[in-house]
Amino acid sequence: AQQRYTSIREKPATTLDGETIALHMNAGLMADLPSLVSSGAEGVGLFRTELQFLTRARVPRRSELASIYGSVMDAAKGKQVVFRTLDIGSDKVLPYMKATEEPNPAMGWRAIRVGLDKKGVMRMQLQALIRAANGRPLSVMFPFVAQFDEFRDARQHLLDELERERKLGHTLPVDVKIGAMLETPSLAFAPKQFFELADFISIGGNDLKQFFFAADRENERVRKRYDTLNVSFLTFLEQIIARCTETNTPVSFCGEDAGRPVEALCFAAIGLRTLSMRPASIGPVKSLLRRTDLAEAKQVIDAARLTGAQSVRADVMDWLTGRAE
Ligand code: PEP
Ligand code: MG
Repeated sequence: AQQRYTSIREKPATTLDGETIALHMNAGLMADLPSLVSSGAEGVGLFRTELQFLTRARVPRRSELASIYGSVMDAAKGKQVVFRTLDIGSDKVLPYMKATEEPNPAMGWRAIRVGLDKKGVMRMQLQALIRAANGRPLSVMFPFVAQFDEFRDARQHLLDELERERKLGHTLPVDVKIGAMLETPSLAFAPKQFFELADFISIGGNDLKQFFFAADRENERVRKRYDTLNVSFLTFLEQIIARCTETNTPVSFCGEDAGRPVEALCFAAIGLRTLSMRPASIGPVKSLLRRTDLAEAKQVIDAARLTGAQSVRADVMDWLTGRAE
């Protein structure tokens, strides 16, 4: 299937009306990196760092992490890699962390909440990232930020670590970008200062959708009730994009839905210009984008909304299939 898309691999995801969408890939292992070339992705929009922690009997050493992250950057050959700090909680318990029983682990003590409460591991990971960059640009994003001060504090830890590394005589990254994942509805309503302070925002659609609809992403039965192309959700995404636009904050979408061509098309139509997805989705998403007039897609979406439909999917599909004939 990948072969079908090799002819467009080096071409941009430019729509018929001239809008270019940047397509990045999600990764979590060194073994994912060859896909950067084979998929034609512009960079790694989300590097999940959980696996190196989950597959070991004890906390990985800083030098070990620095070497892995460094190899990832080497393999990216100058393309951007956005490293997400550890997103672990009581649903993914580390063998060496004392399990805490929590009734709702997805809404429990996870991700940045753990990082800020138990700073040792987060600081060690940040040091490893700085050393791995070794003078190259570094992009770091913090997962599951629910309010401004969590981002401000986590960002300050990174700045502190940069200062500490400088004093120790290590080469600092030439450029540091610090972003937040927007995965809880609360963050969309954060003060403007949050959007100004963040170098970039990445919408974690898997979690954001789960909390927007109060529907467990692991529970097929309830998850499937709520379409990603539901007008309420699309309108919410538009509001997030508008807030980012107001402060000139780059915004991307990195949940699984970005890799579904029709969803990706609708996200682009409502204003997203950067999407990050599994490598195998880049070809199909690019192929559809290149065959589509985005302004027309937006008109179809807006017209569908006016009908009071719950989801714009049926109208978008009708338009796409009608067009093909
Ligand atoms: C998300 O929530 O959309 C996301 C990209 O993070 P994860 O799937 O790792 O929770
Ligand atoms: Mg998430």
